[in-house]
Order: sequence, then structure tokens, then C-alpha cells
Amino acid sequence: MLNLLRRAWRRRRSFLPVEGFAFGRPLVVLQSDDWGRVGVRDGEGWEELRALGMNLGERSYDFYSLETAEDVAAIVSLLQRHRDSTGRPASLGMNFIVANVDFDKVSANNFRQIYLRALTEGLPEGWKRPGLFEAYREGISAGVLSPALHGTTHFCRPAVERHLVDPGERGVLLRGLWKAGVPYIHWRMPWIGFEYWDPEPHGEEDFLTSEVQESLIAPAVETFIRFFSKAPRSACAPGYRANQSTYGAWAKRGIRVAQNGPGSAMPPHFDGNGILHLYRSMDFEPAVEEEFSVDACLRVAEDCFARGVPAIVSVHSINFHSTIKDFRSRTLGLLDEFLAALEAKHPDLLYVRDEDLHDLVDKGTLQSMQAAVRVPVTKRKFMTRAVEAGWRA
Ligand SMILES: [Zn+2]
Repeated sequence: MLNLLRRAWRRRRSFLPVEGFAFGRPLVVLQSDDWGRVGVRDGEGWEELRALGMNLGERSYDFYSLETAEDVAAIVSLLQRHRDSTGRPASLGMNFIVANVDFDKVSANNFRQIYLRALTEGLPEGWKRPGLFEAYREGISAGVLSPALHGTTHFCRPAVERHLVDPGERGVLLRGLWKAGVPYIHWRMPWIGFEYWDPEPHGEEDFLTSEVQESLIAPAVETFIRFFSKAPRSACAPGYRANQSTYGAWAKRGIRVAQNGPGSAMPPHFDGNGILHLYRSMDFEPAVEEEFSVDACLRVAEDCFARGVPAIVSVHSINFHSTIKDFRSRTLGLLDEFLAALEAKHPDLLYVRDEDLHDLVDKGTLQSMQAAVRVPVTKRKFMTRAVEAGWRA
């Protein structure tokens, strides 16, 4: 009954006009999740999983590995070729998972608990990515990559801890993956949940408590600062699973922008914590979507510009991976086509980052390479679509 009421309330709310910010120029934002998070350990991990009897290759995320220095350099080179009306290059907001499972340590302790290895300590044993961290930093220095916070682990730690000691099928699968240096393949084991959200809670609440979320977010921000030598200003919760506790904990740690998933057509707006909420406009996921079309994405972008909201493009890191399967070449070609079409049609186009949007609604200007650029920003009512937000991140 409570669920029914909740659903009815959500539906009702989604038809109501929502107050948010409208911008007087076409703005394009690129947001990308899952950077720094290892998956299937290249060809070696693939073979180990096959030997366990896993029928790999059924879905795209079976081919998810980890970006290489070359993948990152290829993105940087593409973005540098695309300039907006002020000469600024396109910029990719990259949401980082700042730690990986320390598989050796977990195994040495008989899978009794989770041990993590922060990015500042390097990648887990068995993973080789020469020059990757330098490639991140070079792209950031060049002004085309913009790191933001995804989390410390993508999965919900309490959920994984329960299954790590499970003698049943799920425990066997999880321990088998970890022995092969692979943290998880989400579609095969959705019971691992997302960082702040437990899919099978023992109590009533599926989100972790405020206290627990704060205890996860504070060290994540500290690791981020150590790794990038700057504090994160924008964050996106794994699986887009964030609630008031998440926003509150983010705000306490200096996060100013919260990224939300696609589907709602919500305009940018502030919440009670002073966090600017942004909503993705489209999935640009050629590695995952069979029916992917650049034209469809261009139509969505035009619709955003017509409504006065930024076109916020969601493109997950898998689309740029290349070691198990080359997703990168096709994605870069399609992204090139997409950005070129927008630039050709909109001579006043601006490529902006999450923090630029915050500056714009706060001060009305953003710093381009030469001078401050003014963009008219107005507050008004928007009609939003009655669509539930997407569940992938
Ligand atoms: Zn994610």
C-alpha cells in the first residue's frame, strides 16, 4: 500500500511544473562514469573466468576491463580538436571510483572481509596499465578532462560482505571472480547493489543510513584530493542511487554539483543543501545500445537547447575501452560526428563543465581561455516528463 501511494505521489509530482534555470546559449556537457574502476582483467582474466565455466560475451559489460593510457590519450586528442565559439575545447567530466578491491589481501584473509586499494596506492595485483595515471593528469592539465567523484566502491559494501561469506551459489561466484582479479560483472549479480543502496536490506531502508553514507563519502573525498591534488566539486552516485543523506554528506565535503541520470527532463536547480542538481539528457552509449543513433542524440540536444537547458551527454567509460574489445574506435568516430554537427549548427555553442554551470547560475559568467563569457541565466518553471529516472551509472 505504501509503495502504491509512493508511486502515485511520484507520478503526480512529475506532472507538476518544476522551477529551474534556463540558459541563453546552447550549452553542451559531457559526463562519464566508472573511471579508475577495474573489471575483467583483460585476456588473462577473461580466460580464468571462462575456465570457471562462465559464458562470457553475452552482454557488453562482459567486455568491460579498464581504460589504458592510449584510450585516455585518444579521448584527449579528440576533445582538443573540438572547440566552441570561444575557442574552448570540449571537456569530459570523468567520475572516478577512487579504490579497487585488494584481491590478494582479501584472499590471504580467507575472504572474511573486504580490503581496498586506493588509486593512490596503484592498481590491484595483476593489473598493468603503464602511464594511465599520467594520462589522466595530462588531460586534466590540458583542460579537457575534468575529474569528479563517483565513489570508493561501485558496489554496496554491506551487500558484498554478506555474500563474501555465503557458502551458496552467490558466494561461490563472488569468490571465484575475486580469485581471478575481477570485482564483479553487475548484470550477472545485481545483488551487490550500488555504493549507497542495498538491494536486499535487512531492515526497511534500502539506502544506507546517513551515518554510514557519511563514513563512506568522507574518505572517498580525501582519497580523491590525494590523487588529483584538488577537491571534487561534482559527484554522481553509483547506479544514480543517491538520497537526501547522500546529498547532505556531499555538501559537507564541498560537493557543489550532483549529477542525476537521464529520463526526467528536469532543469538544473538547487536543493536545500545548496547543491546544484543536473540531469542527463541522453545516453550516448554505442558500446551498450544496439539501436544507438547519432541523429537521435542530435534531436535530443536540439530539444534541450529549445527548452533552454544544457544538453548533458552521458557516456560511460566502457565506450572508450579497447583491451578485450575495441569499443573506443567506434565511440570516438561517433562522438566526433556528434560534436561536429552541433558546432556547425550552433555558432554560439559553449562546451562547459559541471562547475562552470555552477559558476553560471551563481555569477552569470564563466571563465573562457581569454576572458569571462557572459551567458544569460533566468529562473523559470519547466514542465518535466512523467518518466522515472534511468537506473544505470
Ligand atoms: Zn557507475
